[in-house]
Amino acid sequence: MDALDAKYPFFATAREAVADAAVSLPELVAADAPAVERARERVERALMDGTVASESGAFPAESEYDAQAELLSYPIARILVSLLDSQPAIEKYAAAEAATAIDRIREDLATDDELRSMSTPTVSLDDVLAEFDLADAVRPESPRPSAGTAGGTAATGAGSGTGSARDPEHYWIAVGPYLRLTSPSWGESWRLVNRALADGEVRVSREELLDALEAAVEDRVREGLPFELATGEGIAAELESGVADLKRLLSERTYAGPVDVVAPDLFPPCMRNLIEKAERGTDLSPPESFALMAFLVGIGMSPDEVVAFCADTSLDAEGIRYQTEYLSDDRGSQYPPPTCETLANYGICHNEEDHMQVAADPLTYYERRVTEADEVTDWREENATAAEAESE
Ligand code: SF4
Repeated sequence: MDALDAKYPFFATAREAVADAAVSLPELVAADAPAVERARERVERALMDGTVASESGAFPAESEYDAQAELLSYPIARILVSLLDSQPAIEKYAAAEAATAIDRIREDLATDDELRSMSTPTVSLDDVLAEFDLADAVRPESPRPSAGTAGGTAATGAGSGTGSARDPEHYWIAVGPYLRLTSPSWGESWRLVNRALADGEVRVSREELLDALEAAVEDRVREGLPFELATGEGIAAELESGVADLKRLLSERTYAGPVDVVAPDLFPPCMRNLIEKAERGTDLSPPESFALMAFLVGIGMSPDEVVAFCADTSLDAEGIRYQTEYLSDDRGSQYPPPTCETLANYGICHNEEDHMQVAADPLTYYERRVTEADEVTDWREENATAAEAESE
């Protein structure tokens, strides 16, 4: 089995490799093969930490699992997540597979050509576009000549850190795939009206193209889930104890109850930084906006309160409502806000004064600060008083 299939198990070739392999998933599960343990880890990490990368290290160089275990863990993880019988768990699992895949794609694109041919197998942007039938829908913007270069063949410079200096900074994507793969809830700048649009194509930066590809991976992973499996029979029976462990973990990690006070001065630095960034009018990336919304909902704010709280920021009311309503309904209990580790991976956390030692997630940190504070003023009361004064 090929390391590339193991790295991107949702690719069509990987699915074929699993189909062609002379292995039976029920037998693997019955034998408790390494792929089963890795599948359990895959789902647990997805639900708890938003990634499916193994804790033992990056695949393939550092992971304790070989390509076969890594590849076969994917179909088994899909069975496990189906048995959890929870749509939010499926959503979170698909998002985590996509986030991990896009990190790997970024690394692959940043690997220079010489290393690419001799070290671990990597994909190119063309490979990924072809995988999602986007080869004809995306084209790089013609490079502009750089200062002092005649003939227009100079590099544009990547600027994003996700490719070599020869990679274009911008691409044009056909409007149909753009609308299918992106969402206005990601921020104002994603709305079509705010985009350069010409001849049925939308201009996107390289990073934005990767965001759209992450959505394509997420759709691919979500497709076909949940499987219909009779509980208590066959493979479902064999996986019963693993499923019970995952359900227990989920219920333990479900946030017990909001502190139910909105004290922005006591917010952890990661959230204050995101709010300040949005107040400066800068768009938040999808992970940034998700982290902030999950935190605000986690401390007990209603969608209306979040909209009012973010009124003077780059976040638009419609996007806020979409995200917060999703997070605050019954399904919200399955979405523990991202941990400090996940936020650090996204560059959202800078672990000021090493306070990751104090708490593993921003909500717990905030809760401690509220408990320890001598006096706490709730923003909701201040906001209501200001609104009353205005109406008089
Ligand atoms: S350590 Fe946690 S709470 Fe503190 S800034 Fe980082 S993510 Fe936020």
